[in-house]
Amino acid sequence: MYISTRGNYTPVTASEAIRLGMVPTGGLFVPAEPPSLSIEEILEMQGKPYQEAACRIMTLFLHDFRPEEISDCVAKAYSEKNFDHNAITPLFRLDDTVHFLELWHGPTAAFKDIALQVMPHLLSLALRKAGVERETVILVATSGDTGKAALEGFKDVPGIKIIVFYPYGGVSRVQELQMTTTDGSNTYAVGVRGNFDDCQNSVKEIFADEDFKKTLAGKGCGLSSANSINWGRLLPQVVYYFRAYLALLEKKEIIPGERINFVVPTGNFGNILAGWYAGRIGLPIHKLICASNENKVLTDFFQTGIYDRNREFKQTSSPSMDILISSNLERFLFEISGHNAAKINSWMAALKETGRFEADAETRQAMERFIAADFASEKETMSAIRGVFAGAGYLLDPHTAVGFQVYRKYTAATGDRTKTVICATASPFKFSSSVLQAIKDRDYLEGKDEFAVLRELSRLSGNPVHPGLRGLESRPVLHRTVCERNEIKAQVEKILGL
Ligand SMILES: *Cc1c(COP(=O)(O)O)cnc(C)c1O
Repeated sequence: MYISTRGNYTPVTASEAIRLGMVPTGGLFVPAEPPSLSIEEILEMQGKPYQEAACRIMTLFLHDFRPEEISDCVAKAYSEKNFDHNAITPLFRLDDTVHFLELWHGPTAAFKDIALQVMPHLLSLALRKAGVERETVILVATSGDTGKAALEGFKDVPGIKIIVFYPYGGVSRVQELQMTTTDGSNTYAVGVRGNFDDCQNSVKEIFADEDFKKTLAGKGCGLSSANSINWGRLLPQVVYYFRAYLALLEKKEIIPGERINFVVPTGNFGNILAGWYAGRIGLPIHKLICASNENKVLTDFFQTGIYDRNREFKQTSSPSMDILISSNLERFLFEISGHNAAKINSWMAALKETGRFEADAETRQAMERFIAADFASEKETMSAIRGVFAGAGYLLDPHTAVGFQVYRKYTAATGDRTKTVICATASPFKFSSSVLQAIKDRDYLEGKDEFAVLRELSRLSGNPVHPGLRGLESRPVLHRTVCERNEIKAQVEKILGL
């Protein structure tokens, strides 16, 4: 069963936790008692494909799903059609101690695909299990990347329509075309003359609009979200931590039971939390290294015990980590404080009221056992991209480069030589302007549009452009609607024929 981090809800089944997304009374769902795997059971997964590990691990957490249902979801998600590498998350060996875990082989070239390719199928099943007959409408506000990953994930999933709102003119040309060229009979992408906050606020208002939800229900429709705090998005990420460990075993880089480190470029704390759950259920992990960019609220928290979001928000070259409120941290704190909902309630209340809270000594000690944390400046990030490309001919995207730089600081400070896997969270092609600027210089970009930059990066690195970004200029634009920021609800009504 799944329980609330704030002790304010009755336990629910896995399918209910996925259907509800977050606890309706506030808080997040976590497993009441995580399962566990012995090292022998982990070793049994050696040499088997990604899909098999995915079924094995997800089954442990999804008690009210039948094994055939899970394997069906997994087969649909991790297919050759969706991923351009048959290992799904291959490793790149940098040297004797460091490997990069490439999490960007999915349709939109970033790691969110791994969860968003499978979660819609889990949600569709969860709705069916709850006897929900109506059509479910997924509303997403996006600053660019999540929108496309969600569109691809929910495309053609039965019983579901997905509508994405993005700031018109506020996303890159590549991001816009990624969204507006999406096919599928149930996908809608709408540009909004406003910024991301306008999109996000309108979507939140719609979710809170009881009259509107009643009208929808009368037409046989219900609303849901694809938010990253849904357990159905976290769970699929646990799998690749196991897969990385198994791959190191298969390559004889480690011996059975040897502990390894993972470095995770972190924003909302979802990815690294999945790593923590991997360790919790038995994967031999030494340290999880939490890497932040200049929005280093998590670095400060792990180093001082004080979480303080009252600071300037910085726009960086790793935009998916530009976050000052890390939602999934709540789950981690609940877990390491021994499921102490009273502590969570007081911290979250303080965070809401003052933007700040302080962990007690006992919690800090528990955090330090699992997590090391540091950050990389913009300058360090760019020099990490340049350095790794010059040394190994391997291109890092800015998020991954933050991870690499933080790893370097970590080893300099600790001397730890434990074998380490760095999560590569996006393809360098997804952030090609920043990457090209790092390995050449600013002038080199002048006069080149985003597509010329992609081609140039491909030429310099000798790698083909990521298939999700290839040929975008010539794909037909299928979504042309643009609306004012006060018309978002009207657009939803129009699309649904209300
Ligand atoms: C979302 C994202 C992150 C941050 O992941 P969290 O789970 O939010 O910590 C890092 N890198 C990239 C490329 C992302 O898209």
